[in-house]
Amino acid sequence: MQAHNGMYIDGDWRPAAGDGTIEVVNPATEEIIGTVPAGTAEDVDAAVAAARAALPGWAATEPAERAARIGALRDALAARRETIAATVTAELGAPLSFSEAVHAGLPITVAGTYATLAAEHSFEEKLGTSRVLHEPVGVVGAITPWNYPLHQIVAKAAPALAAGCTMVLKPAEDTPLVARLFAEAVAEAGLPAGVFNLVTGVGPVAGQALAEHEGVDMVSFTGSTAVGRRIGAIAGGAIKRVALELGGKSANVVLPSADLVKAVKIGVGNVMANAGQTCSAWTRMLVHADRYDEAVEIAAAAAAKYVPGDPTDPATRLGPLVNAAQRERVTGYIRTGISEGADLVAGGPDAPEGVERGYYVRPTVFAGVTPEMTIAREEIFGPVLSVMRYEDVEDAVRIANDSSYGLAGAVWAADEAEAVAFARRLQTGQVDVNGGRFNPLAPFGGYKRSGVGRELGPHGLTEYLQTKSLQF
Ligand code: NAD
Repeated sequence: MQAHNGMYIDGDWRPAAGDGTIEVVNPATEEIIGTVPAGTAEDVDAAVAAARAALPGWAATEPAERAARIGALRDALAARRETIAATVTAELGAPLSFSEAVHAGLPITVAGTYATLAAEHSFEEKLGTSRVLHEPVGVVGAITPWNYPLHQIVAKAAPALAAGCTMVLKPAEDTPLVARLFAEAVAEAGLPAGVFNLVTGVGPVAGQALAEHEGVDMVSFTGSTAVGRRIGAIAGGAIKRVALELGGKSANVVLPSADLVKAVKIGVGNVMANAGQTCSAWTRMLVHADRYDEAVEIAAAAAAKYVPGDPTDPATRLGPLVNAAQRERVTGYIRTGISEGADLVAGGPDAPEGVERGYYVRPTVFAGVTPEMTIAREEIFGPVLSVMRYEDVEDAVRIANDSSYGLAGAVWAADEAEAVAFARRLQTGQVDVNGGRFNPLAPFGGYKRSGVGRELGPHGLTEYLQTKSLQF
C-alpha cells in the first residue's frame, strides 16, 4: 500500500493543510491499495493562488513554446504508459488490455493532438476593420470523474494549457493515483511552476471549494448530471464560464437494411466496455419489429461471452464496477427492470457465479423494454443493455429522441446515405455511422441535459479562449 501525503502545488509536492486521507480501494480485490490526502478549502486556496500567479507568464508564452511543453507532456505520459495502465486497472478495475489501449493510449493521443493544435491554432483573426484576439479565459478549475480517469484529465488540461490558461485539478476520489501520475508527467515536461496544480479531495469539500473560488475564471466539470447542475448554478451565480460533460442514455439504431449480426455484436461490446461505465455508451438498442427476436438472441449470446473476471488477466473482457455503491446502484436498476416487466434475457442482479470478492455485476440484457420504463430513461452506468422495438423509421426517431440526454449514439444501415439522413434527425452530440471509429479530434459533448460545451480537438480548445476585438 502506498501512503501519499503530498499534493502538487506551485511546481512542488506539498503536504496537505489538514490530515484527512482518502483510501483507494482495488474494486477487484476490495483491498486498500493506497491513500491520498483529502484536501480542504485551504489547499484549494493555495493551489488557486499558485495558478493565478503563474497566469500572466503562461498566457504570454508563444503558442510554439506551449506546444513544445504539451509535446513533452505527451512524451512523459507515453514513457509511463505501462504504469498508467496498471494503475487504472488497480483503482478502477478495468481489464488490463482495455487500460493499455484506452485508459493509457487515448490520453497520450489526445495530448499529442493538442501539441499540434497549440502550434497551429490561429490565436488572432482579421474581421473587416477589426483584429480579433483569442485570449486565455484565465484560471481553470477542473473537476473530473473516475470512469475514464486520465482521459478526462487530459481532455481538460491539454486544451486549457494550449490556450494559455493555468489550472487546478480536483480528480475523483476513487481514482486519484493516476492523477498523481499525471502531475509527475507535468513536472517532468518542464511546465512552469503553478501552471498545473493538483488537489485531491472529496467532491463536497475540495470540489465545491474549487467551483466556488473567486480566483477561478472557468469551471470545467465532467460527472453526474446532479453535481453538474449544482456546479452550473454556482458558476451562473458568479457569472463565470462553465463547461459540463454529463451523463447519457444513447440510442443505437439498427435500421432494417443493416447488417444485424455486426450491429448487434458491436453494440453489445460498446455497452460492456469498461463494465458499462461509459457516459457515451449505447445503452438503448433500437431494432425493427421484424428482426427484433433475432436481435435479442444475438445480443444475449454476445453478452454471455463477457465473463466477469480478474482484470489483470489478459483474457478478461469484463472487470468489476468501481465501488460497492455503484454495484448496488446498478443491481438496483436491474431489479427495477424486472419489476417493471422487462424480460431478462442475460445476466441479472445476483453476483456472478464463483465470484467471492470484488464489485462484479453480470453482463445483463433486457428485451421488451418500452420507452417509459426506468431502465430506458435513466443512466445505469453498468453492463446493462436495453433492447427496444420500433415499428417504422418515424417510430425509431421518436424513441431515440425520447430522452432527457443527448450525448452520443449510433446508426446502422446498408447504405451510408440512409444512415446519415437518419443521424441528422437525432438530438445528440455524436453519432457513429456503421461503427465509425472514435476520432480524438471530433467535438465531444452533449445536447439537452448531457451538458454544455465541447471537448477534444479544435472545438475543445476554443472552450478555453475568450475574444477581444481591436477596431482600426
Ligand atoms: P460525480 O458527479 O459524483 O463526481 C464527479 C466529480 O465531481 C468528482 O471529482 C467528485 O468528487 C466531484 N464532486 C462531487 N460532488 C461535488 C460537489 N458538490 N461540488 C464539486 N465537485 C463535486 O460523478 P461520478 O460518480 O464520479 O461519475 C459518474 C457520472 O459522470 C455518470 O453519471 C456519467 O455519465 C458521468 N460522466 C460523464 C462524462 C461525459 O463526458 N459526459 C464522462 C464521464 C462520466
